[in-house]
Amino acid sequence: MDEQLVALAESLVAADGVSVLTGAGVSNASGVPTFRGDGGIWNDGFDPADFHVDRFESDPAGFWTDRHELHERMFGEVTGPNDAHRALARLEELGVLDVVVTQNTDGLHREAGTNRLVELHGDAARSVCVACGESVSTEAALDDVRAGTAPPTCPTVGCEGHLKPDVVLYGEDLSAAAYGSARRMARESDVFLVVGSSLTVAPASTLPEEAAARGELAVFDVAETAKDHLADYLVRGDATETLPALVEAVQARLPNEVTVGDAGGTAQEA
Ligand SMILES: [Zn+2]
Repeated sequence: MDEQLVALAESLVAADGVSVLTGAGVSNASGVPTFRGDGGIWNDGFDPADFHVDRFESDPAGFWTDRHELHERMFGEVTGPNDAHRALARLEELGVLDVVVTQNTDGLHREAGTNRLVELHGDAARSVCVACGESVSTEAALDDVRAGTAPPTCPTVGCEGHLKPDVVLYGEDLSAAAYGSARRMARESDVFLVVGSSLTVAPASTLPEEAAARGELAVFDVAETAKDHLADYLVRGDATETLPALVEAVQARLPNEVTVGDAGGTAQEA
């Protein structure tokens, strides 16, 4: 086994606070395309400007028509959580991992069984009314768009506010609460893992620096990232293989076999 994984597993078992930041690389194996790079959505006929908050405000009908296409492209082929999501849920179940902070909006960590989750960029499966804050399923909003009613509006009687996907659009700030807890996790963790993020998009790109200033930083990626130079542990490879291997190494180092239920699945079941 990779020496870095063994050393990291020992550190995780000894640590008090452990959190992880995940990016698009974690969901790629589940059929969610990345935004950038070869095969990325922005190189595939979609224009980021169409999904800017200014577009939503000035042309909500056009925004939702384009958002429908984007949603189908992003989530139409999703096969559910993969071994990387399941491995992180398992680490939480084992009492080793405290929080997953994700840049992804696909909901796959929750589906895999992760309970303590910070979704920095929101949840694409939900939409909210900009007038009253009512939350509805994006699928219901998209059904309206498919039926020719764009923009979709709030189901609350007498409201009629426009619905907006519950994600951070271009031109919008991250939720202060979500970003605040992500920063706190980065600053207070003994070990901070980053998985499948190129770490180039601010402000999430600054979290590894805050983490490395306080504790240890582990970077998991198939390729180089912008923060490799800060990493105490550098694990190259597909997260669907490296994270289950980490779980195995952690389990081998736990003092006693931890008895837990099957909820959320385990890497072995995959
Ligand atoms: Zn409303």
